[in-house]
Amino acid sequence: MNLDLLAVAAHPDDVELSCGGTLLKMAQRGYKTGILDLTAGEMGTRGTPEIRAKEAAKAARFLSVKWRGNLGVPDSDVQPSRQYKLRLAGLIRELRPKTVILPYWEARHPDHYHASTLGYEACFLAGLKQLPIEGEAYRPFKILYSLSFAEVRPTFVVDITAHYERRRKAILAFASQFRPEKGESRAAHKKQKVFLAIDRLEDQMNQLARHYGELIGVKYGEPFLQKELMKVEDVVKMEVRSI
Ligand SMILES: [Zn+2]
Repeated sequence: MNLDLLAVAAHPDDVELSCGGTLLKMAQRGYKTGILDLTAGEMGTRGTPEIRAKEAAKAARFLSVKWRGNLGVPDSDVQPSRQYKLRLAGLIRELRPKTVILPYWEARHPDHYHASTLGYEACFLAGLKQLPIEGEAYRPFKILYSLSFAEVRPTFVVDITAHYERRRKAILAFASQFRPEKGESRAAHKKQKVFLAIDRLEDQMNQLARHYGELIGVKYGEPFLQKELMKVEDVVKMEVRSI
């Protein structure tokens, strides 16, 4: 499969929370998009890996992605080891994405910053002909870093105003993280810290989208960073007002 855009992240729901609007926007432009979760999120306090897999599939439908997969790395043990790098490089050769979105390389959760390094190094290795894995050597053209959790100035912001509602639905598809489990009373559920944490997280992500949107003169936006400089052809048609 030749994907145009592949988003890689540590846990199911990381992509929805950080760059779901951008994935949906690109799918609506006719690009083939995909999501790779490195782990099944089995260290999450609520739900089971099976439930989260179902939820991930549902969220993927909201974002209109053509492909969603799981690399099978144990949750809370994401690291740029040779074994995981080769596994991911093999998948990059299969999917041949033109652009790859990775998490930013600094984060509080080790899985998040390790996912960034693992992703970058696997994309690099996938282009080495002598690598002891199957498939034709291939390297993505562009690597973007999703910044939603990082306090770093982005290189650019994608306007997701028109895609915000469906991004919200995709996030809420991870219902086991929000709703009471069978046999659990609503009151007991509400007392749990995790309910509040997820509740706050969604709220925080909405505020971030609003904040970055405002910086480019729209309602909602998702921030990205790229290591390269941006090339501009026409300085008269540049967007975003200065004064
Ligand atoms: Zn995560």
